[in-house]
Amino acid sequence: MTTTGGLGPASRDHALAALSTTTPEHPLDVLVIGGGVVGAGTALDAATRGLSTALVEATDYAWGTSSRSSKLVHGGLRYLEMLDFPLVHEALRERGRLVEDIAPHLVRPVPFLYPLSKPWERPYVGAGVALYDGLAAGRTGHLPVHKHLSRAAVARMAPGLKPEAYIGAIRYYDAQVDDARLVIELVRTAASHGAHCASRAEVTAYLGQPGPQGGVTGVEVLDRETGRRVTVHARRIINATGVWTGSIPVRHPDGTEEPVVAGMPRVTAAKGIHLVVPRDRFTSTSGLILRTEKSVLFVIPWGRHWIIGTTDTPWREPVEQPAATSEDIDYVLERANAVLSEPLTRADVVGVFAGLRPLVTPAGEDEPLGDTAAPSEAQPTAKVSREHVVATPLPGLTVVTGGKLTTYRAMAADAVDAAVGTAGAPGTGPLTGQDETGSGEGVPASCTAELPLLGARGWTPAWNRRLLLASESGLPAATVESLLHRYGSGAPEVIALAVAEPELAEELPGLPGHLAAEAKHAVTHEGARSVQDVLARRIRAVFEADDAGAAAAESVARRMAPLLGWDPERAEAEAERYRRWTQAQRATQEAATDAEARELLLEASRESVRDASRGGWPATT
Ligand SMILES: Cc1cc2nc3c(=O)[nH]c(=O)nc-3n(C[C@H](O)[C@H](O)[C@H](O)COP(=O)(O)OP(=O)(O)OC[C@H]3O[C@@H](n4cnc5c(N)ncnc54)[C@H](O)[C@@H]3O)c2cc1C
Repeated sequence: MTTTGGLGPASRDHALAALSTTTPEHPLDVLVIGGGVVGAGTALDAATRGLSTALVEATDYAWGTSSRSSKLVHGGLRYLEMLDFPLVHEALRERGRLVEDIAPHLVRPVPFLYPLSKPWERPYVGAGVALYDGLAAGRTGHLPVHKHLSRAAVARMAPGLKPEAYIGAIRYYDAQVDDARLVIELVRTAASHGAHCASRAEVTAYLGQPGPQGGVTGVEVLDRETGRRVTVHARRIINATGVWTGSIPVRHPDGTEEPVVAGMPRVTAAKGIHLVVPRDRFTSTSGLILRTEKSVLFVIPWGRHWIIGTTDTPWREPVEQPAATSEDIDYVLERANAVLSEPLTRADVVGVFAGLRPLVTPAGEDEPLGDTAAPSEAQPTAKVSREHVVATPLPGLTVVTGGKLTTYRAMAADAVDAAVGTAGAPGTGPLTGQDETGSGEGVPASCTAELPLLGARGWTPAWNRRLLLASESGLPAATVESLLHRYGSGAPEVIALAVAEPELAEELPGLPGHLAAEAKHAVTHEGARSVQDVLARRIRAVFEADDAGAAAAESVARRMAPLLGWDPERAEAEAERYRRWTQAQRATQEAATDAEARELLLEASRESVRDASRGGWPATT
């Protein structure tokens, strides 16, 4: 156990060792599969109830959908039109908790303009936004309430909007978050409460007892860095793998495998892409929410950039490596340009990212929740509800999927409640705190609703000390502020590295405001194992920098090398692997189809495998 939530190399070794020493007599209470926002939140929920807990992630924390969202912590104004009031209410309650208590350093208010183009829209949209504010009911997170704006007021606030695109607007507030950093903080906080956490650790099979009275008693975990397989025994397994939900088979004692079908929620994937453009390409002090024929498009302020998205189309390729096509990019540009006085072109696009939403059909139903047909061109995925589902298809196995980034905490609490409240496989024994009958009694209720994440502990005093931190460290005040926004009260840890080794106080090439110390900290405290882990998910260079961080790759690899035992040749190969991946990402932007775009990314990873095979280095990102 670590009290600081460090996820360094030693902590990963320790976690894998702890997994391998489990036995049928001494199993873990809970093993969580999947280190996205839902799995990380679930590990935190279970660990803070006093259950012995582990979290395994096949690639990197937040590698899946949870680093590719619109980064909004919101109720979802558009779900009001679908009359999904419970979903909106739950999400707004969670938004308030995140802004006020759980992660105030990461989750921040953001204003949006809803431009009105017809007089009748004002009462209609106004009523919807008033209801939206009302549904936050006491959990406003100190966000200002909405305001009706005249045409003249809109012109002052957003001079970059085409005058003919509006007759007025309504301004309302939501919140935004660095999604991948939220996940990493969740994992670190779970580790600080005793959870064993390992990335590059893939579950390849559930281990089961056959027959109707059987169930799942553990899993096989593949260490993707060494190829070693370990059997992990656990009283409850919680699958939180998003779009990968149905991919793990049950392996019976005789070695045969079969998929889990009965009782398993069916998950389909819908792709959404975002474009990143420089902030000066659209003059406005507010973000925008724009109606499209199928859904809505957001123009979201993000530091020195705008993030514009998203699309919502069915994805029929394998779920690894979703990518934006040329058509996706044109669609987003066209919709945004409908209201911008200075149209955006492809040359303005500095970054593009694509993600897959897990859309869920509960067990026993044929169609996705809230819709009348499986996602297809005719039945847009945008109309499918974003409610989450928790199911227990086999004793000992609970599945949680669907939902939204915003509602991860409620999803996690529901998943642990379900796992604790149903019997495990025979012979696995009671959970810590339970009596011998194994009933749900005895395990404490979820306590995460007001539990601050690591960087939120002491956040206000840390922020108040920012000028002192700057003068004591010699770093510019603006750099200290941006470190505080990324690391919260953990920023002094990063600053201490820069002070101890002045070379680490240098900025990473091409990444103003980002210190070399962050590359070291990413390995020692945040579980980074590759250059992509650092530049794509700890530092968001992959979509914030014009070159996706390629110029920084060598510098990052050099800082990681001594911590991960890389020799100079390996460090150079790791930097090159990242540069190739960014080139492939850029090449997808000209691809005509999803399949072609995906093939480009796969080809880049195959190239890396060829390089890696010479030294036997791992092929994962
Ligand atoms: C384009 C887009 C925009 C969105 N915008 C928003 C938004 O603004 N606000 C909001 O609230 N929500 C938003 N969402 C939804 C939100 O991002 C997702 O609901 C959420 O991130 C899903 O998290 P997850 O943990 O379920 O899945 P993931 O983040 O995909 O995590 C699943 C993890 O499981 C791992 N895994 C898979 N198989 C295994 C295995 N066998 N062993 C170990 N690990 C495994 C994967 O590597 C992955 O890291 C958006 C989604 C998309 C696609």
